[in-house]
Amino acid sequence: MSQTTRAGFVGLGAMGEHMAAHLASAGQLVSVYNRTLSRAQAFADRHGVAAADSVDTLGRNCDVVVLCVSADADVEAVCEHLANSMTAGGLVIDCSTVARETAVAVAQRLESAGIRFVDAPVSGGTEGARKGSLTIMVGGQAADFERATAVLDRLGERIHHMGPVGAGQATKAVNQVLCAGINRAVTEALAFGEALGLPMDSVVDVVGSGAGGNWFINHRGKTMLQSRYPLGFKVALHAKDLGICSAMAQAADAAIPLTEQTRADYDRLMADGFGDEDISALYRLVRPGAAPDSDV
Ligand code: NAP
Repeated sequence: MSQTTRAGFVGLGAMGEHMAAHLASAGQLVSVYNRTLSRAQAFADRHGVAAADSVDTLGRNCDVVVLCVSADADVEAVCEHLANSMTAGGLVIDCSTVARETAVAVAQRLESAGIRFVDAPVSGGTEGARKGSLTIMVGGQAADFERATAVLDRLGERIHHMGPVGAGQATKAVNQVLCAGINRAVTEALAFGEALGLPMDSVVDVVGSGAGGNWFINHRGKTMLQSRYPLGFKVALHAKDLGICSAMAQAADAAIPLTEQTRADYDRLMADGFGDEDISALYRLVRPGAAPDSDV
């Protein structure tokens, strides 16, 4: 990224606040915006950047804008404002997880104002966001990918160009199907181990370093055993992703039964008021002797 580039960041949540902090440390960030303005102001005070009072203000002052907001409607709303406020030639990098069709639609809307777009969903959790070690899957034209890489390099260790606009989101959908199955497998295995009366902290250490090891058991296994589900990644957000995966699978005539099961369980958790908990709260439904209306 050239020295004159002025980057903005929209969406300072569990992921975005860490990602934006890396851009601030690199001297690339000039302005932030968040729906709850106090969050943007607190970030701005900590990092010495401007807190914009609207997306329009941010858009007018930045030539590259990174988004990490919640869902499709948020990306659409923010991009509508950016289309009206950014100068032609600007670049929008969307790191939120949304439908492939949403990426294509906002790219077209921005293009009508002369603004470039890449979808760049991320994987690696809040830990990866904090460390700047995310895996990032990018959809867009090659030249836009090259330009976005100068920013994304600060946020991740593996930045992959997957194809045209939407290809990043499609790859992320595959990742989310995988995460749905892994969450199920880990909760089932932990409940099984507990039922056997094993020393489960040691079990997590042992199996986490063997062929069954994975990010989820290594980062969430021990807190699940303590009936704690610190964020992380909200159940409601993964449920949103699995709804996207379900629609994509239907359209492609592909079967994703494990994912559908996890999705139904997330619906149950959300109905019981646990939608804002980390997805490891799936353990509420399977841990030995526990009812979902937990006491923690
Ligand atoms: P989060 O903690 O809920 O944060 C979302 C942030 O975006 C909040 O600060 C929210 O503002 C802000 N926001 C939402 N809509 C907005 C809008 N229209 N305009 C401006 N700001 C808006 O979510 P997260 O966990 O950071 O996830 C963000 C995105 O990354 C989601 O698409 C998620 O699926 C994806 N993702 C998450 C993880 C993870 O492990 N958490 C991993 C990979 C990808 P408020 O402060 O007002 O709520």
